[in-house]
Amino acid sequence: MSGSGPYWLVPGVPGKNPVSTNAQIPPMKGTKPMKIHQPDLSRSCHRLMLMTRPGQIKVPNRLDQGDSHSVRLCQRILFVGSVGNSRGRTIMDYGDGTLSVWAGEQVPMWERSTQVPIVQSVSFGYRDIDEWISVALGETPGHIYSRNTNPTVAVFEQRIAALERAEAATSFATGMAAISGTLHTLLGPGSRVVSVKDTYGGTTKLFLEFLPSIGVEVALVDTDDHEAIESSIAEGCDVLYLETPTNPTLKILDLERLAAAGHAVGAIVVVDNTFATPINHRPLSLGADLVLHSATKFLGGHADALGGIVCGRSDLVGRIYHYREINGATMDPFAAYLLLRSVKTLHLRVERQNASALAIARHLEGHPAIEAVFYPGLESHPNHDVAARQMKGFGGVLSFSIRGGFDAVRAVLPRLELAHLAANLGAVETIVGPPATTSHVEMSAKEREEMGIPESLVRYSTGIEDLADLIADLDQALEVVDQ
Ligand code: PLP
Repeated sequence: MSGSGPYWLVPGVPGKNPVSTNAQIPPMKGTKPMKIHQPDLSRSCHRLMLMTRPGQIKVPNRLDQGDSHSVRLCQRILFVGSVGNSRGRTIMDYGDGTLSVWAGEQVPMWERSTQVPIVQSVSFGYRDIDEWISVALGETPGHIYSRNTNPTVAVFEQRIAALERAEAATSFATGMAAISGTLHTLLGPGSRVVSVKDTYGGTTKLFLEFLPSIGVEVALVDTDDHEAIESSIAEGCDVLYLETPTNPTLKILDLERLAAAGHAVGAIVVVDNTFATPINHRPLSLGADLVLHSATKFLGGHADALGGIVCGRSDLVGRIYHYREINGATMDPFAAYLLLRSVKTLHLRVERQNASALAIARHLEGHPAIEAVFYPGLESHPNHDVAARQMKGFGGVLSFSIRGGFDAVRAVLPRLELAHLAANLGAVETIVGPPATTSHVEMSAKEREEMGIPESLVRYSTGIEDLADLIADLDQALEVVDQ
């Protein structure tokens, strides 16, 4: 292994690891244990940064020792960073808004820029062979080669780890790369995974096509039946893979209940948190071992960058990182920069999208052109009580079926003026599409029908436009439906 590995949040997670000097990071295969030092603010800023964790941008040499502004910057950054500040606060003491803006930005950056630079460099040069070897062995913080680690990408990993209150995170080129990298790391010939029928279409393909071809036994259970899921888990499994709310019918899984069932048989519990985001719920606090995202969606929020990320226990993330560094599905530094900029407004966007989606769901529930509305925030949703218990908000995506089947979908969607008809979700603009061209494009109409996804369904990802305008737009588009 070369490079210094994924981002480790170990010293700042109370209860998991003490906030202390010289905290020991669990070694990854092939590396020696790494010592983490609590920075000493009485020393120079330059020295301070050399003593901190991997994944950080080095302080330029020309930063004067004892420069009081630099020291103040470091103090401010440590105040909001993950290692705890001089008053002993850790990330657990900060809110989502503060972490969205600041987490990961622990250092005075290149030429004193206030924004994280895009380090578009394939490799990192060393004059001293011993230092190079030390970085390669993971003994000294630093970067070797950007397929393994990169300073801009590392800040993105730190930020999402902080938002998920995770020990560690490692990123990927796309959400599907994160999902397949995780499943291929944790599963092999002879192992068994339990999941549900309603996972994202690409994930379902992994379960139906790719994993069985390498000898993994896959059990996909009815998402609505928690008892059936528990029975399948009780037969024994290595991984329990969950997604909630599901795409596109917004079903809800009780994470605490299912994680407990998974742990009872020694399974690793993985949750796709793409739809909820860490603003709406944090699966790790509900018992999951790993949480992953298509960062392409709400984390990015502007539909201009692809990405994926996996957060969780450092031993597991270390294994997934190792798979990814060799497999090569690495996040690009420019994508990391775009995603970092976007995450600064994650809490604001998601709060707005939660509120608008709920209001639109309530409006459509009484609309004569609509057969059914699927949204966990509605009291009529079968698992509304579970959603209300485990989520802070119900998310920006809803779906609804239009009277008149697929012909009605064909007629209504092009009439929308304030929505992209596109295969994406989670952006600042409203986006609509039927499962046939979005989440379940990989499936045939028959397979969708078997999964309980009607052809009259529309997935509606609420943007941040004015609510009154969105409702008026929907109403005028639905006028074409025989009511
Ligand atoms: N997980 C969910 C819930 C998704 O909706 C998607 C894509 O829509 C993915 C994973 C895959 O993400 P990506 O398109 O970034 O590979």
